[in-house]
Amino acid sequence: NKKILLAKRPKGLPDKDTFKFVETEIIKPEKGEVLIRTLYVSVDPYMRGRMIDAPSYVPPYQLDDVLGGGALGEIVESKSDQFEQGDIVLGSFGWQSYYTAKQDEVRKVDKDIAPISTYLGILGMTGLTAYFGLLDIGKPKEGETVVISGAAGAVGSVVGQIAKIKGARVVGIAGTDEKNQYLKEELHFDEAINYKTSTNLQEDIAKACPNGVDVYFDNVGGEISDAVHTNLNKYARISVCGAISSYNLKEEDIGPRIQTTLIKKSVLMQGFTVGDFANRLAEGSEALAKWLQDGKLKYEETIIDGFDNIPDAFLDLFEGNNIGKLLVKVDK
Ligand code: NDP
Repeated sequence: NKKILLAKRPKGLPDKDTFKFVETEIIKPEKGEVLIRTLYVSVDPYMRGRMIDAPSYVPPYQLDDVLGGGALGEIVESKSDQFEQGDIVLGSFGWQSYYTAKQDEVRKVDKDIAPISTYLGILGMTGLTAYFGLLDIGKPKEGETVVISGAAGAVGSVVGQIAKIKGARVVGIAGTDEKNQYLKEELHFDEAINYKTSTNLQEDIAKACPNGVDVYFDNVGGEISDAVHTNLNKYARISVCGAISSYNLKEEDIGPRIQTTLIKKSVLMQGFTVGDFANRLAEGSEALAKWLQDGKLKYEETIIDGFDNIPDAFLDLFEGNNIGKLLVKVDK
């Protein structure tokens, strides 16, 4: 059984010393347990936050812990009356090739709705984050302008499509021309801006949003957000989903103050985690599955092959090497 453990707490960008590969015996399941062979592992930006020893909405990883996170696997042996061999299950067992789970730690996924990998993306945590963060906090109205940073990633690409479904004008900000072409041509965003090649982001946002910005769905924070904030309309809403630009900083990021903008424009800014909506996950999952089945939502996955490539795939998130959800397909 291969496992990847947290070897050292990173300062700045994680590197090879952050991770440790080990092999252990596979534990036979006992009554009420199942043995799972991992098929797909999710790599997510929030895992960077769990690598430091600080309180958050999820507990930090301990040194020599398996790097836990969303994973999908097949049951190879069941000692539970709730699961059969061959069932596909979703859990938080993370970066290990086999896992012996208690039956209430995992849930079965429906293979008939969509490919199973979608339960780690558009039909899973990142899709639900987009759904609740946009609709409950951003609350876009028809004809309003929604700007999304990190727009071509797992969360951002779904936010933009839901905003289009709700009749908004949608402007994405992403780091490559290829991503922006995808946003406009495949996902029908109205405009897309490359923040890496823009010489004046604030102005480019103003040009792409002739009526100003009513909703800002923020995945990245930092200077990109500063440039969006100056374009906000009166009564705009900012849904603060993530701040990936700061996750690998060695010093705390302070940045320009936004308070006067919030006051002058009566802007509402709210952070959230998808866990805040734990009692409404069924509603979100049903809506996403329906839109997917009706062809109203599209999705992209960047799939890296091979268990040994999980740490590199995780680091790809910070290089922007993914369109849509980044996943690792684990070797048989
Ligand atoms: P993505 O699929 O969007 O992958 C990360 C992307 O972020 C990269 O592809 C890259 O795209 C961009 N990026 C990386 N570094 C920077 C940087 N320094 N500045 C600007 N952009 C950068 O990841 P997710 O969709 O899974 O997550 C998006 C955000 O949402 C993250 O901040 C994450 O922490 C947050 N999140 C929050 C949740 C919640 O419950 N609040 C739940 C899930 C995610 P590019 O090429 O455009 O730079």
